[in-house]
Amino acid sequence: MTSSNDIRATFLDYFARNGHEIVPSAPLVPRNDPTLMFVNSGMVPFKNVFTGQERRDYLRATSAQKCVRAGGKHNDLDNVGYTARHHTFFEMLGNFSFGDYFKEQAITHAWTLLTRDFALPKDRLLVTVYHSDDEAASLWRKIAGLPEDRIIRIKTDDNFWRMADIGPCGPSSEIFYDHGPHIAGGPPGSPEEDGDRFIEIWNLVFMQYVEDAAKTLTPLPRPSIDTGMGLERFAAIMQGKHDNYDTDTLRALILASAEASGTDPDGPHKTSHRVIADHLRATAFVIADGVLPSNEGRGYVLRRIMRRAMRHAHMLGQRDPFIYRLVPALIRQMGVAYPELPRAEPLIVETLKLEESKFATMLERGLALLDDEVARLGATAPLPGAVAFKLYDTFGFPLDLTEDALREQNRTLDRPGFDTAMAEQRARARAAWAGSGDAATETIWFDLKETLGASEFLGYSMEDSDATIT
Ligand code: ATP
Ligand code: MG
Ligand code: MG
Ligand code: MG
Repeated sequence: MTSSNDIRATFLDYFARNGHEIVPSAPLVPRNDPTLMFVNSGMVPFKNVFTGQERRDYLRATSAQKCVRAGGKHNDLDNVGYTARHHTFFEMLGNFSFGDYFKEQAITHAWTLLTRDFALPKDRLLVTVYHSDDEAASLWRKIAGLPEDRIIRIKTDDNFWRMADIGPCGPSSEIFYDHGPHIAGGPPGSPEEDGDRFIEIWNLVFMQYVEDAAKTLTPLPRPSIDTGMGLERFAAIMQGKHDNYDTDTLRALILASAEASGTDPDGPHKTSHRVIADHLRATAFVIADGVLPSNEGRGYVLRRIMRRAMRHAHMLGQRDPFIYRLVPALIRQMGVAYPELPRAEPLIVETLKLEESKFATMLERGLALLDDEVARLGATAPLPGAVAFKLYDTFGFPLDLTEDALREQNRTLDRPGFDTAMAEQRARARAAWAGSGDAATETIWFDLKETLGASEFLGYSMEDSDATIT
């Protein structure tokens, strides 16, 4: 079996042999972009190189980049544990050309690596291109010999990439693997595409324009390449699995969770083990890169992930701190590739243990309250917003934790009601201040508090933007 560690090495080695500089993963906290919560793709550390603001002494690079998608524009948190292919933390393998080679070579490299070095069967692969990108379509025909029906033209922005509202952009091409007709789902662009049969493994971005404020596209004199392949999704294929969670790294964590809790890894607690395995990785890597749980910004994203995992540990019957016990298993799997993990081990263990023990009582009491409230509702009635707010405000339940708990009963919560309860509480806080003295100062204080988001609400208030830090 090809291990995840071997796949990472083979990928980097292929591109190094083809003139690419191997660049180590940047930390998860972006250095060059204060508007971004966490690095969420391989190109983030190279943003300024693509825009020309920064020069490096190489024109081609390759990396295995740590990524987190648990907030902002790319938020996969709600999928984790439930789909075969999403994680909050994952590794993105990539190759980059900074004004050096372009479309033809990018496609050639991807195809050669997949079908020659990794020996994937050609008839399992299909690709998408942006509907107007005839050049990419004909290159896929020429280089890969793909028939017309496996070069799918997509009209949506899924196949047109933009760095931001203005700046570098261009069409993209996504490579999919067909896991076979025994799995539900249709090809990309079809009505059934939400299934897990066809899984996107690699995304090639052809950065060939700059866009201005009037949305005019001007061709770049020296176009660039940015690609990203999910290591876990690719490992699933290479290891003959359909599900990322059945690959070596994640399976080892699931088994550790099952063993430590004395439960069946594949029984009724399956989802909990998956969520714990995923969230353990995200937690450990985020802490190793210097973030601690808190009530705002990055620290709150971390706290949400940790608390969400804790509810699943509770479902496994664990009433004492549990997740911290799984850290050694993670370090066995990933500590060689990421030495920051063993270096930060004591901090990761202590932070988890402390956070787990601090939240235990509130979790227990909040879950009891939730059970009581749900018992009074009709089978399909959403949880009232006021209850979700009480759980949030009094018991420290992040909104997504409550949603995750309700999901098992196919129940939703009244989000507008939650927002109203939140707004009312803010208004009460404001009123409590009124008359205490200097009105102007108070206004400034509350305005600041609301714009800076000095509350736990920050983590939710800007879901449509990556600019989650203000
Ligand atoms: P999807 O459509 O499946 O959500 P995406 O188009 O959002 O994926 P990209 O932004 O193109 O993903 O990222 C490049 C690659 O990184 C993807 O092709 C996939 O292999 C991998 N990837 C993206 N998101 C995740 C995730 N949450 N967990 C694991 N791998 C991921
Ligand atoms: Mg996505
Ligand atoms: Mg996609
Ligand atoms: Mg993609």
